[in-house]
Amino acid sequence: MNVSNKELLRKEPAGYSRGDELHPMFFTSLLCLMVCLLLLAGCTRGDTMYKESRVLMDTFCTITLVSDSKEKAREAIEAGFAEIKKLETLLNYFSDSSEISAVNRAAGIAPVKVSSDTIEILEKTALINRLTEGAFDPTLAPVIGLWDFSKNILNHSVPLKNDILEALELVDYSLVTIDKDKSEVYLVEKGMELDLGGIAKGFGADRAIEAVRSRGIKAALVAIAGDIRGYGLSASGDAWNVGIQNPRPDAVTDKPWEDISARLELKDRAISTSGDYQRYFLVDGKRYHHILDPERGFPAESDLVSATVLAPEGYLADSLSTAVFVLGSEKGIALLESQGYDGVLIKKSKEVVLTKGLEGKVTILNHDYYLSD
Ligand code: AMP
Ligand code: MG
Repeated sequence: MNVSNKELLRKEPAGYSRGDELHPMFFTSLLCLMVCLLLLAGCTRGDTMYKESRVLMDTFCTITLVSDSKEKAREAIEAGFAEIKKLETLLNYFSDSSEISAVNRAAGIAPVKVSSDTIEILEKTALINRLTEGAFDPTLAPVIGLWDFSKNILNHSVPLKNDILEALELVDYSLVTIDKDKSEVYLVEKGMELDLGGIAKGFGADRAIEAVRSRGIKAALVAIAGDIRGYGLSASGDAWNVGIQNPRPDAVTDKPWEDISARLELKDRAISTSGDYQRYFLVDGKRYHHILDPERGFPAESDLVSATVLAPEGYLADSLSTAVFVLGSEKGIALLESQGYDGVLIKKSKEVVLTKGLEGKVTILNHDYYLSD
């Protein structure tokens, strides 16, 4: 089937998972950073806010930090970007020279020696895969390939069900063998592949924050598209403010990041949003989006249009927002609360469900949406 309305296809830069490509509207990320420009005016005791954006991981990355020294700020920003660049080189699914591509090519053939960074993210992924009972599974890569959101919009079509079922046979994170002592990774079945697009940006934000903090910077915010981690207070002495993008805007705009549905403070945590409005196409009026249900190989059909997760680390917020989107509001809230994490889940019905930890801390800005009782 062809796309019924090409105007309605959306592709937004949210990292280097499949289908992402650079776009002038770089902040059309699911979660829009609302760092107030007024912060500079509020600087005290020589503290100044420094901010720089670069294109890395096929998207726009921004490092904002507070420092009393321009030189120190410059060094910290360089160090933060260097970490993100390093991870991009190791983990990029689309680059033949990345370690992940080498692991994918050797599936069913032989283990591949990789860096400790790659081992670390794959081990963290294993934890998330178990915690979410498989809702987060980067071995979905062969299925994601069938959906191929990077295709020309005119050629977009729903893959054949039999092809999906065949590719689903290769989806099983327990078939990823990680040998930490030998620093080797092996995908047991030929044809298996990993796509870390749902976790790598959050992990990158973690690494960049560590690099910045270790250089004595008192406060910083790292945003890799919509995967954000911050610590400390902004230069004005306030907490960092973040906004959650309206998942169902009334009209198409070239500045969707300015259309905010809710706002909250980010204090020493990471925040990520996954939604069905970032990359999708419509066929016969039905929305096919980029977050797949690992059980069916089709776009997840939960009661949610957007899932925002707050957690102590970026890799957690990034992967869990994807998983919670798959699981839906009830299981999602239960999962987050069981781990002491927080979430702002927007349902198709426009009801906004919060974890207990966020009660009274989220301001609804667009009154199409309402907080649940
Ligand atoms: P995010 O935007 O962080 O929710 O990540 C979505 C990206 O992760 C997609 O573009 C795919 O590359 C990949 N992905 C899709 N569904 C899943 C899933 N259920 N588990 C893990 N990765 C997924
Ligand atoms: Mg994610």
